Amino acid sequence: MDAEKVEHYRKILTDQLRQQTEATRANQSDALEMAAADDGVKDVADQSVKDVSQEIEYRLSERASQVVADIDQALLRIDEGSYGVCARCGKDIPERRLDALPTARYDAECQSLIEQSSGEDEHATL
Ligand SMILES: [Zn+2]
Repeated sequence: MDAEKVEHYRKILTDQLRQQTEATRANQSDALEMAAADDGVKDVADQSVKDVSQEIEYRLSERASQVVADIDQALLRIDEGSYGVCARCGKDIPERRLDALPTARYDAECQSLIEQSSGEDEHATL
């Protein structure tokens, strides 16, 4: 992949990373405000609502950090010069795929092979 295209994807990934970081920060400050407004919960029903919302918050931030990790890894591959190359078969990942999914590590063929084999783990041992 030529340097100009790599820079194009680096910009997309950096933008996504910034958006993701801002979204995560907004979620966290919402959660903090909720916790601050929630001074001394006595009611059991209130308590369980609080637990549920904390659980949702936790899952959201967990997913967000996975997205951030994917973007980080893609930026790392750009620095290493391995961006846009399938990590399984070593072929170039089509630009069409990178445009749709800039964090893609595999081409579509390997991705579906990996998904198939991980879905068939319990049969594979036979
Ligand atoms: Zn591949």
